[in-house]
Amino acid sequence: MVRTRFAPSPTGYLHIGGLRTALYAYLYAKKNGGKFILRIEDTDRTREVAGAVDIIISALDKAGIHYDEGPGVGGDCGPYVQSERKEIYLKYARQLIESGDAYYCFCSKERLAEMHEKGATKYDKHCLHLSKQEIQDRIARGEQYVIRQNIPESGSSTYHDEVFGDVTVDFKDLEDNILIKSDGMPTYNFANVIDDHLMGITHCIRGVEYLMSTPKYNLLYDALGWERPVYMHLQPIMRDSQHKLSKRDGDAGFEDFLKKGFLPHAIVNYIALLGWNPKDNREKLSMDELVQCFSIDGLQKSSSIFDETKMRWLNSLYVKELDPEEFHKLAMPYYAEYCPNKKIDYRYLSELLQSRVEVLTDIKERAAFLDAFDNFDLGLFVNKKWKTTVDMAKELIDDCVAATDAPELNTALEQLAEKKGLKKGQVLWIYRIALTGAAATPGGGEEMVKLFGKPEALRRLKAVKERLK
Ligand code: GLU
Repeated sequence: MVRTRFAPSPTGYLHIGGLRTALYAYLYAKKNGGKFILRIEDTDRTREVAGAVDIIISALDKAGIHYDEGPGVGGDCGPYVQSERKEIYLKYARQLIESGDAYYCFCSKERLAEMHEKGATKYDKHCLHLSKQEIQDRIARGEQYVIRQNIPESGSSTYHDEVFGDVTVDFKDLEDNILIKSDGMPTYNFANVIDDHLMGITHCIRGVEYLMSTPKYNLLYDALGWERPVYMHLQPIMRDSQHKLSKRDGDAGFEDFLKKGFLPHAIVNYIALLGWNPKDNREKLSMDELVQCFSIDGLQKSSSIFDETKMRWLNSLYVKELDPEEFHKLAMPYYAEYCPNKKIDYRYLSELLQSRVEVLTDIKERAAFLDAFDNFDLGLFVNKKWKTTVDMAKELIDDCVAATDAPELNTALEQLAEKKGLKKGQVLWIYRIALTGAAATPGGGEEMVKLFGKPEALRRLKAVKERLK
């Protein structure tokens, strides 16, 4: 059975690239009737951030990427948090020492620094040949040590990556990496192998930064007599052709995009297409559709550039599809900025806005007209396109009041234009400004009267009349 995993380090946020890795691993598992596992890689205790695991779990949940096994859910291969698996790694490290594939290293920081100062590019295997007795004595004396992988000095190793094809690395280019640190914790280089095997991971889907170190991991699989997983390495998501999309340059976290007003499923849909394509021209795909058509051969070898404008467009499609009640609920907090006690039909406002925003935060700007009426500048009546003037407004204002009272507002405004020999657009412009004090409103005069209610509309028009005197 296919088993994939997402193995984030709890850094305090979920990068959009990480979310995409999780998504592909999830899609691949689900497509093949398999299981998707969440494993927390928290062996670097110095980088620990409080609450970081919850951030990951909640992000995956919001994104609709549900794991079958992992923290909080359980499963047969737990614990799923690496810091709780310390003894397991030590057991296999000892086994590798026995077989000669790993060794104790007592080298001090100073010695390593000196070695590098003299030009060494990798560890010189200084401790590889210590006698058993010496090792025992030094451990007994309480000397600090690490356990290193013993990489062959010559030869090379090749493996097949499903995205990049055959990858060959010369052993001389690999270092005897640390497997177990002096605090007894494993490094990523070790823990990923032990856990992927013990958790029955069949397909290892992760960032391309591990492409060239995978031969090292394969040596460990071989030494332990374990089957290697199938590998798929993914290109990063780029900000532009040169730079990765990174937290440092601004917002690259999933939560950041939610704050910017994107809907979780729109984000998921968009990032699914950043590095993979469904081989037809579909751009809007639900999670079920993604599961159905996900395939390895759609994965791209080249990296993709993140295009927020495109994601906004996709998001607008999702916004339009929201249940109106749900949209209204999401919109309410934005209205609160504009004197929430205004007696307007907020539900109707949501109806007007739902098809007019791309991301939820647009609501704030789109609803700004709510506050525009008090003290608006009369110069707003002047519009170059429509060739309107303040005098024109003066002349029309009584008729505007009358039109508001007419049973059919739009017909009344049309007739008004005809009677005065004006263009309909001119009358509509003047009417809109007189009623709202805003040049941009979601909908025209008729919608605005419906929104504010007739009494308020008339009150406003009369107030404008006073100002125009
Ligand atoms: N903890 C690693 C990271 O966050 C995971 C890499 C992997 O998926 O194996 O980069």
